[in-house]
Amino acid sequence: MAPDLALADYVAAERERILATLFEWLRIPSISAHPDRAGDVRRSAEFTADLLREAGFEHVELLETEGAPSVYGDWLHAGPDSPTVVVYGHHDVQPADPLDQWRSPPFEPVVVDGECQARGAVDDKGQVLYEIEAARGLLRRDGRLPVNLKFLVEGEEEVGSPHFEALLHAERDRLRCDAVVVSDTTMWAPDVPSVCMGMRGLVAFDVTVRTGSIDLHSGVFGGSVPNPAHLIARLVAALHDDAGRVTVPGFYDEVRPLTEAEQSSLCLLPFSADDWKAKAGVRRLEGEEGRSTLERTWTRPTCDVVGITAGYGGAGIKTIVPASGNFKVTFRLVADQDPAGVGAAFTGWLRAQVPEGVDIEIVPEGAVAPALTPVDHPAVGALCRAVERVWGTAPLFTREGGSGPEEALGRVLAAPVLYLGIGLPDDRFHAPNERMVMDQFWKGLLAAGELWHEIGALTL
Ligand SMILES: [Zn+2]
Repeated sequence: MAPDLALADYVAAERERILATLFEWLRIPSISAHPDRAGDVRRSAEFTADLLREAGFEHVELLETEGAPSVYGDWLHAGPDSPTVVVYGHHDVQPADPLDQWRSPPFEPVVVDGECQARGAVDDKGQVLYEIEAARGLLRRDGRLPVNLKFLVEGEEEVGSPHFEALLHAERDRLRCDAVVVSDTTMWAPDVPSVCMGMRGLVAFDVTVRTGSIDLHSGVFGGSVPNPAHLIARLVAALHDDAGRVTVPGFYDEVRPLTEAEQSSLCLLPFSADDWKAKAGVRRLEGEEGRSTLERTWTRPTCDVVGITAGYGGAGIKTIVPASGNFKVTFRLVADQDPAGVGAAFTGWLRAQVPEGVDIEIVPEGAVAPALTPVDHPAVGALCRAVERVWGTAPLFTREGGSGPEEALGRVLAAPVLYLGIGLPDDRFHAPNERMVMDQFWKGLLAAGELWHEIGALTL
């Protein structure tokens, strides 16, 4: 370990205690999806609060919501001219099933071959713990932090953060900050450090097409009445052209082009199409023509029909013309697409495709805006320097194709969102045998220490 890293001595001296703390936390089965685990989620929140207090944080409290509590704590003595940063993570975990696929019990953490195995090891208790320990180490060493630091550790991330945005609005004054650091993501590989720059948004619809009040005999009426199954097949097929592009008018109009730094990062990432296929369990890749797989999944908007139902699906055959059918569709969005604008374009397009005399009902099923951190923001430079100092290589820029509470954090707190994530793609997030590579954990702790010094030197 390079001796010029601020927390190198702290890590050397405190390693065993920190590992024991991680184990203790991981033994709490804080599964937010299981109502009968609500007590454990609360116990995990209290454990988090104790960690923050022991680290030297003040105003530590559980922030109650209509669901599971988040945990807050701050240290605000860096001075009014120093930047203020909110660190976000979550203390709830995914369910552990299927239990018989775990090599060791999910809530009895073990370290094997340098990997800590347990539910929550990387997602996200381990990634919250290195943040708390980095702050604790700096406070022990220097008696102060280079930035004003606020922790916000959610308890419902794994069930889609149903109360999180309301909490952000309610606590907006207390959470006021110059930057948000999310500690809940991955990097490309241990020897290819990377930082996430954004996540895709989402807008979803449930569409029902109805041609009549009852299914009809296909011998009596077939050939003379509209068939909603045929109509839905036509609508779904018409959503993409032969080049794999979405046909909704104006769909791509607001898509922000990649910066040069992002474009060159995408080309430098060592990508294997065979690995990607193996991971997906498919034998071919396809998508928007002229785009790489990483562009298609990270930086381009998409449309996926997630389900179609119409007519008879039981055994044998039934000679009918169905009266109605349904399909569900999701659009993944990228900056600067607006979910409401895309939704309006889609519903307008859809209504125009449906002939007179056919009813169509379009129900919105939620929307999340895309999140993108400006690559040239000074805090991004600080993050890259911190990562480079610890990993020895400048990080590449990546994105994530999914959506999460990060967009709400950036929007409600009106601050750039940085992603200091040290998970690895093979860490089995949400799956049996979730793991944290401990070398990554210690590097994350060191990088957090470097990051606070880097950000502390900025005027934001
Ligand atoms: Zn997570």
